[in-house]
Amino acid sequence: MDYHALAQLLFPQVTQTPQEMEDRYPLRNAPEGAVITRMAPSPTGFVHLGNLVQGLVSERMAHQSGGVLYLRVEDTDAKREVAGAVEVLIDTLKHYGIHFDEGATIDGDCGGYGPYRQRQRAAIYHVFAKKLVEDGMAYPCFCTEEELTQMRQQQEEQKVNFGYYGPWAIWRDRSLEEIQAQLDAGKPWVLRFRSTGSIENKFKYHDLVKGELTITENDIDQVLLKSDGIPTYHFAHAVDDHLMRTTHVVRGDEWLPSLPFHIQLFKALGFKLPKYVHIGPLMKMDGTSKRKLSKRKDPELALTYYKAEGFPVSAVYEYVLTLLNSNYEDWRSANPTADAHTFKFSYKKLNPAGALFDYAKLCDVSKNVISTMSADQVYEEVLEYAKEFDVPFYEALSQDAQFAKSIFAIGRGGKKPRKDLATWAEAKPYMGFFYDSFFDGNAAFPEKFSPETVKAALQGFIDVYDPADDATVWFDKVKALAESMGFTSNMKLYKQDPTAWPGSVADISTFLRIAITGKTNSPDLYTVMTILGKERSIARIQAAIHRL
Ligand code: GLU
Repeated sequence: MDYHALAQLLFPQVTQTPQEMEDRYPLRNAPEGAVITRMAPSPTGFVHLGNLVQGLVSERMAHQSGGVLYLRVEDTDAKREVAGAVEVLIDTLKHYGIHFDEGATIDGDCGGYGPYRQRQRAAIYHVFAKKLVEDGMAYPCFCTEEELTQMRQQQEEQKVNFGYYGPWAIWRDRSLEEIQAQLDAGKPWVLRFRSTGSIENKFKYHDLVKGELTITENDIDQVLLKSDGIPTYHFAHAVDDHLMRTTHVVRGDEWLPSLPFHIQLFKALGFKLPKYVHIGPLMKMDGTSKRKLSKRKDPELALTYYKAEGFPVSAVYEYVLTLLNSNYEDWRSANPTADAHTFKFSYKKLNPAGALFDYAKLCDVSKNVISTMSADQVYEEVLEYAKEFDVPFYEALSQDAQFAKSIFAIGRGGKKPRKDLATWAEAKPYMGFFYDSFFDGNAAFPEKFSPETVKAALQGFIDVYDPADDATVWFDKVKALAESMGFTSNMKLYKQDPTAWPGSVADISTFLRIAITGKTNSPDLYTVMTILGKERSIARIQAAIHRL
């Protein structure tokens, strides 16, 4: 077979050579050890936590080593593409702090290794496709869908492996004339790789996450170019990652079964194989067993979920770091206010089997993150959240920023900041009572006490209340009030024998708390009253007395 003639027949339009491509995309001038990597998502419109995990691993590996992270859009599958998906992806990753140095952007491509959208690279793939044909390593296949389905049925009947290989690779060794005749008849064709591998052969391969793997050679004549001339993922991966000078491929381990073919393909093309970092899937506990997070069953897989729940971006980012590097938490406790980017991330600590997603842990991380924020920052973030998800709350908050900030300042700063909030959605239940429109003026008092007793305590408090008192004097007055009603102010004794008194100072505080906040749990009551002011505090207590 004259492979040159075949190459010319299949790709008459290709005039450029692989060498010209090599020259067009020169080796990068990167420091020794710099990781050049990429994210290569397909724009399906769904951005998930797995994208963020992959983005964070790639981003850290690139930027910690003085390398480059770029974004390549893998839009070869027109059927799966959703309008606007690229923009959503770019925006979302940016929002979560994944910064790309080059690649596809909202305003087009940026960088010297483009185009970064695969469909615009068709002519580049064809140069290498032609080369493979010239080298006898690729050939056209004219099988129809029906023929392939039939082949599969026969393979099933004969209990042999599925696929286009060996005797099943029926277009592998056709003559130039036969091929010419099909082309002349206008028959569609795909370009297939001519595999010389055998499943009898195994070899060792070292993946940076999975460790040493035993790989079985690929014997399938996989498709390189589809009938529209657009490459499959495999071929585009080899050509793009080579020409864009990727040193490390960070991707999901669902690609592991294709690795034998990729290794073979890089070799056939004369390309140096990049290092692979195959990331395990995100798992979750389902009863007592683990399973992969699923798009259909688990809303927490979608990144939009975290926004709607009101998790700060930085908390989600930190949580993903704790998932990936188990020493992150210790580092964070030792460096509570340090920028998360100063943590030394290591791909070596990734769990090969995948990370276990845990909602409660996410909430813990988020509480910590929020507790280190300033009141101003919390205010801004809650405001932004409420603007989208709770407009009445947004309006209340924006009416008096100073007032809202003084509320968010409660328990903030200092060595042991309070960890009250895990999400911005919790802000309203936590502090909405400061606003008359969100205050529950009908909250019930403990049934254990008669309305007369509660009234007496509330009135007793009004009689002695002086907003000029400091926190100690304020509480001394509450204690004295308790004693005057026959309650004890000694909590230790009360706990030893609660039957010895009708109640304790804690109950008096609860009456006041319910009257003033409408809740049994609230930030420090003295501080709450200070922020609310005498007039509103007394008005609420009086209203409670009236309804009792
Ligand atoms: N487009 C592929 C995907 O979305 C990319 C895999 C890779 O990173 O190479 O799964």
